[in-house]
Amino acid sequence: MTEGKAMTASPDDRFDVAIVGSGIVGLGAAYAAVRRGLRVVVVDRTDRPVGATIRNFGHLCIGAQDGAARAYGEASRGIWLRLAAETGFWVRESGTLVVARAEDERALLEEAAGAEGEDGGIRLLSPSAVTELAPVRPEVVHGGALVAGDLQVNPREAAGAIVRHLAALGVEFRFRTAVTAVETGLVRTTRGDIAADDVVVAVNHDVDQLLPALAERAGVIRCALDMMRVSADLRSPLQAPLLTGWSLVRYRRFAGLGTATALRERLHAERPELAALDLNQMYTQLPDGTMLLGDSHHKAVQPEPFQPEAAFDAFLAEARELFDVGGMRVLERWQGVYAAAGEEFLIEEVAPRVLALAATTGIGMTTGLGLAELETTRVFGWGGSGSGSGSADADASVADGAQTPAIAGGAGTTAIVGGIAQEENA
Ligand SMILES: Cc1cc2nc3c(=O)[nH]c(=O)nc-3n(C[C@H](O)[C@H](O)[C@H](O)COP(=O)(O)OP(=O)(O)OC[C@H]3O[C@@H](n4cnc5c(N)ncnc54)[C@H](O)[C@@H]3O)c2cc1C
Repeated sequence: MTEGKAMTASPDDRFDVAIVGSGIVGLGAAYAAVRRGLRVVVVDRTDRPVGATIRNFGHLCIGAQDGAARAYGEASRGIWLRLAAETGFWVRESGTLVVARAEDERALLEEAAGAEGEDGGIRLLSPSAVTELAPVRPEVVHGGALVAGDLQVNPREAAGAIVRHLAALGVEFRFRTAVTAVETGLVRTTRGDIAADDVVVAVNHDVDQLLPALAERAGVIRCALDMMRVSADLRSPLQAPLLTGWSLVRYRRFAGLGTATALRERLHAERPELAALDLNQMYTQLPDGTMLLGDSHHKAVQPEPFQPEAAFDAFLAEARELFDVGGMRVLERWQGVYAAAGEEFLIEEVAPRVLALAATTGIGMTTGLGLAELETTRVFGWGGSGSGSGSADADASVADGAQTPAIAGGAGTTAIVGGIAQEENA
């Protein structure tokens, strides 16, 4: 919010909807709006999406979520598939493979599978079935599971493809333009003011710069993650994103179950150096065959930019232990940052028709499109099918989800939607 006097925007700078941030949440809001025939502008200070949205695993990890995250994830799933069909970017309906390397990990998978019955989407796997799906060393596998419904995208490709698609649909992108303040009807930028009936702020962790009072109230800080990409001489392709026991004790569908506590305690007692990294040991393989390895987590208002080599050493050592791999060559290392808070989502109408949205844990790729779709339509009351053609077609499931009371955050309140306090995901 600005305390300054509102300036009048020129007629060229009047839109139905202005969106701050071109990450997956902002793009989701733009897609929701343009399909309803609205005139949309997206403003970002960078010259293309280069934030968390391109720095992640590309793992759309819906089946491991619970509560609101699951609802947003399910809504996102349909939107991801629809966008991929419309634009041609790579998506695979891979599910997620979980490798159990100890009996307590296998027991937790069994408990999760049993908790929701056959329709729960968790298929338990024998050790040999696991080694058929992933080039893991047979001697380390005790069993596993395939979580149905999950998707994989290439994060380096998807956001750019969505930007081009939205631009073709008529969304205006203003890159290299920083937003300095927002208020009802107005977005102030370093290239002049923009007038808009509805404003969406989707700036991830930088919400503390644009809306500091909101960020403080909601306890938003930063979570910095180390990641790397390797060329790996694997026995066979990795057919799905791969999670380990370190992931099971993070993701809510598993982390809340009875056997998770003992597993977490064992992992932390046996491997304190990995616990100190706050490791989520997981892997995805990109279409070019290279593999993403990660990740560590460090939370602070402003985390250090320096990436400890110990984290990368651990990623490589753990990968060598798990995979049947010949050579591995490091191609890239990078730091990614996302917003972290006690709840999983930040949803607040900070002024009439000014909506701040963020995933405040590491599941924004899984949930961001659905979060944006469901919350913008709810808060702004955008009607219609969202098809852009006035026909009530493919969006029925998303619109139905929008009416799920559990995911509604009230205007002027920080929504309490799911959330084990401080549980982080990817
Ligand atoms: C290493 C890593 C791994 C992850 N793995 C996964 C995963 O496998 N699955 C999953 O579901 N999630 C994952 N996540 C989380 C996910 O990537 C994020 O939750 C999601 O991308 C956040 O999207 P966003 O649009 O909110 O933010 P961003 O993509 O960061 O976009 C925010 C945009 O806002 C812009 N901006 C900020 N301030 C301003 C301003 N004042 N003016 C103009 N523009 C501004 C920024 O330039 C940026 O482009 C991971 C995250 C990281 C970092």
